[in-house]
Amino acid sequence: MEKEQLAEHVRKILASLPSHVTLEAAAKTRTAEEVQAVIEAGVTVVGYNYLQEAEGIKTRVQADVRWHLIGHLQKNKVKKAVELFDMIETIDSLTLAEAVNTHCERLDKIMPLLIEVNSGREANKSGVLPEEVIPLVRRIAQLPQVRIQGLMTMGPLLDDPQRLRLYFKLVREIYQEIQTLNIPSVEMKVLSMGMSDSYLVAIKEGATQVRLGTLLFGPRDISF
Ligand SMILES: *Cc1c(COP(=O)(O)O)cnc(C)c1O
Repeated sequence: MEKEQLAEHVRKILASLPSHVTLEAAAKTRTAEEVQAVIEAGVTVVGYNYLQEAEGIKTRVQADVRWHLIGHLQKNKVKKAVELFDMIETIDSLTLAEAVNTHCERLDKIMPLLIEVNSGREANKSGVLPEEVIPLVRRIAQLPQVRIQGLMTMGPLLDDPQRLRLYFKLVREIYQEIQTLNIPSVEMKVLSMGMSDSYLVAIKEGATQVRLGTLLFGPRDISF
């Protein structure tokens, strides 16, 4: 898409979202120019799956925007992730959160986190199982340099986005249950769910942040 056309398109999507929903640009494979264009059109959160890609783009984009990690975080990359990102959306174990906490201590930084939920209970997917979320939240809540701010889920890959509703609902119910627990230092204010083909369903089920790639930028050239 041409830069102006892209900006116009992004403004339309932004205007169509309810005011409590944040649009996160899922920016994998996009050029720095494309990322700059969506930010200028009003996007305030940019998500990356890979650290290297985020680092490369970050140095070339001039903007006041928040950078989120939305891909799986490997333990040996935690230091770099803590330096690069303003939020990590994919925490799924205590050891990972502890490693983030340790690096944050060194940098004197507080890192906002989302807990990734494996809502489809898929064997080869990251994320914690639904019943493990609350016990994990309680333990991570005790780490001084991190702050749990919500939950994130992908859900299974299904042809019909309506069939994802069940999974989004499940995660929203856990989110609401955590809200009622009033766990010290834990906030439930970000519910990150829904992608290009499922974001409308996700919003109906309570998403406060949707992660859009294809719908925002157009089809990806490289299969991902
Ligand atoms: C790529 C990606 C998205 C966006 O996917 P689209 O279908 O292109 O909108 C959202 N979340 C994560 C974690 C992704 O990797």
